Amino acid sequence: MHEWVTTKIGLKPTIPFLNNSQQIFTRNSILRKLMKTLWLYSALSRFKFLNYRSKIMVVAFTGTHIPLIAIVAHIAWRSTDNWQSFLSVLSTALVATLGGTALTLLALIHLLRPIILTSQALREYGQSRKVLPLPTHFDDQVGTLMADTVSTLTDLEEARRILEHVDADTGLANRTKLISEIAAAVEAGKMYRVCVVVSNGYQRVATTMNQGHADKVMKMIGDRLDAFLGADAVLARIAPGQFAFLSFEDFLQEGQSLNALRSLIQECGGKLSLGDVNIQPNLAGGISTYPTDSSDPEELLDFAAAASDLVGARSPVAAYLPQMRVDAFDRYRVEEDIKLALKRDEFELYFQPVVAADEGRAVGGEALIRWNHPERGLVRPDQFIPIAESSDLISEIGLWVMDAACKQVGAWQNNDQRDLKVAINLSARQFHDPLLLDHVKGFVNDHKIDPQQLEIELTESSLMDDFDQSRVIFGGLRDLGVGISIDDFGTGFASLSYLRRLPFNKLKLDREFVDQVDTKPESQAICKALIALSEGLHLDVLAEGTERAEEITYLRELGCNLFQGYYLSKPVSANDFVASIEQGRLRSLLEKAAKTELRAA
Ligand code: C2E
Ligand code: CA
Ligand code: CA
Repeated sequence: MHEWVTTKIGLKPTIPFLNNSQQIFTRNSILRKLMKTLWLYSALSRFKFLNYRSKIMVVAFTGTHIPLIAIVAHIAWRSTDNWQSFLSVLSTALVATLGGTALTLLALIHLLRPIILTSQALREYGQSRKVLPLPTHFDDQVGTLMADTVSTLTDLEEARRILEHVDADTGLANRTKLISEIAAAVEAGKMYRVCVVVSNGYQRVATTMNQGHADKVMKMIGDRLDAFLGADAVLARIAPGQFAFLSFEDFLQEGQSLNALRSLIQECGGKLSLGDVNIQPNLAGGISTYPTDSSDPEELLDFAAAASDLVGARSPVAAYLPQMRVDAFDRYRVEEDIKLALKRDEFELYFQPVVAADEGRAVGGEALIRWNHPERGLVRPDQFIPIAESSDLISEIGLWVMDAACKQVGAWQNNDQRDLKVAINLSARQFHDPLLLDHVKGFVNDHKIDPQQLEIELTESSLMDDFDQSRVIFGGLRDLGVGISIDDFGTGFASLSYLRRLPFNKLKLDREFVDQVDTKPESQAICKALIALSEGLHLDVLAEGTERAEEITYLRELGCNLFQGYYLSKPVSANDFVASIEQGRLRSLLEKAAKTELRAA
């Protein structure tokens, strides 16, 4: 119920959601006059026990009786000479008046009915969204009130029903609508596929900017998908960062559906601009099929989403397989475990020395994360980094690594290990974080280290996601003085002409080519080519995964000077690192390698 307050211009309702309408009331003179006429209602409203109908009755009763009783009493008093006849005239008149009033009140009750019914209809709609039927064929004022109420409520309900099936940010169908479309297709017994397209752009933009921007990004992606799919597919936004559609055509043929989804992702997954910020949507897609996978609409959607969640590094699309549900559950458990691990500080950095053969000493080390799991013991990164990479957890882990690595560099600096360079591994998602440079600057300043003592390792594939942006970030890191090396070089698909245009310092030859290089002609050919390439581009070259003296000897002859691998040292804890780079130890290992005779390949 609204309260009425008295103001200079009369009575004004204090209706919370109509605050703006107060201005309309004050400006609109007709309404202002009408307000003034509410004084009687306002006075009577103080009698809380009277409902609206009773108020009208009391007024009608009082209004008709006071003058009547006064007139009848006056006439009876004048024209009768004794009390008995006076009372008899008075009572006859009163009975007649009461009878007349009763009829009047009865008529009033019926005349008030439309207003009461309208009020009930409004209330009913508010409570249960039901539009009660009211007569709409009367054309007086109350008739119009009823007709207007019915048509307004019907329109409102229609709009609400439409909105219930629409995602407000993108204007696409929502999950409820898609589920009902899937159910209708199941009913019709047609074969079809449900495709889910996920973007991690939503989460990234929501955390680095805000939710409004994230929704705008989804709108842009939704528009692209909509344009690509055309009018036949029912496209819906089923979760903040997820779209889904139901398809009967292109995607249907066996073997065709994944290709079709892949080309959709290639076509729609290009960079987006939000103001002057570039955003990589990072799309992945999953497919489930009716009736093979399920006939339950919710399940079909969940299965397609599970498939999209488990796409591998090689392909951005996957079709649902029953094993995926188990994998998804395992992943979920690991993700929850990682969150706890971050809280409980269970991660630790190990360091593996990088040795310059000509100097016979360690020039730095690669920081490699380890998880001291309370039940599983020391867990290697391969078992959790890929899972963290598919969610935003990698950003948190990445920040932890950066912080811990800079802290360690600072500690070694104070401990007379001044010129050790520490390399950290950055996953693609972190590399494209718009705040990367700020984070690096922040940690370098916090731990008061020289940025030249920090190096960032990236794989080729993380650069190719968005070449222009990669160039900007590389430029920023170079200006800071932070080194950049390309990890696992030769295993990705980066085009050499692209790489030439990026200012990085070092190539890391992948273990795959280093392994048995002294005896394998194919590896020799690759290593020769890559070492020549790095010389031509004036880059350092490092051979990783060197396990045998012969590999070092062979690669040194080709011109490679930096080595990292089990032969020299396994990754060790920060405490053991200084012992592992003890110069006497490294020198004797290198000398032993130099004396090793190579067998002819
Ligand atoms: P990576 O960057 O290629 O790291 C080198 C891996 O090879 C390390 O495995 C290291 O222990 C191993 N390794 C080094 N020398 C040898 C050798 O002589 N023989 C053999 N067989 N292996 C050798 P690790 O520590 O298990 O790391 C695996 C991968 O996990 C890394 O590959 C890297 O891609 C990722 N990773 C490790 N730490 C981090 C991190 O802090 N952040 C991110 N984003 N990724 C990380
Ligand atoms: Ca690495
Ligand atoms: Ca590597």
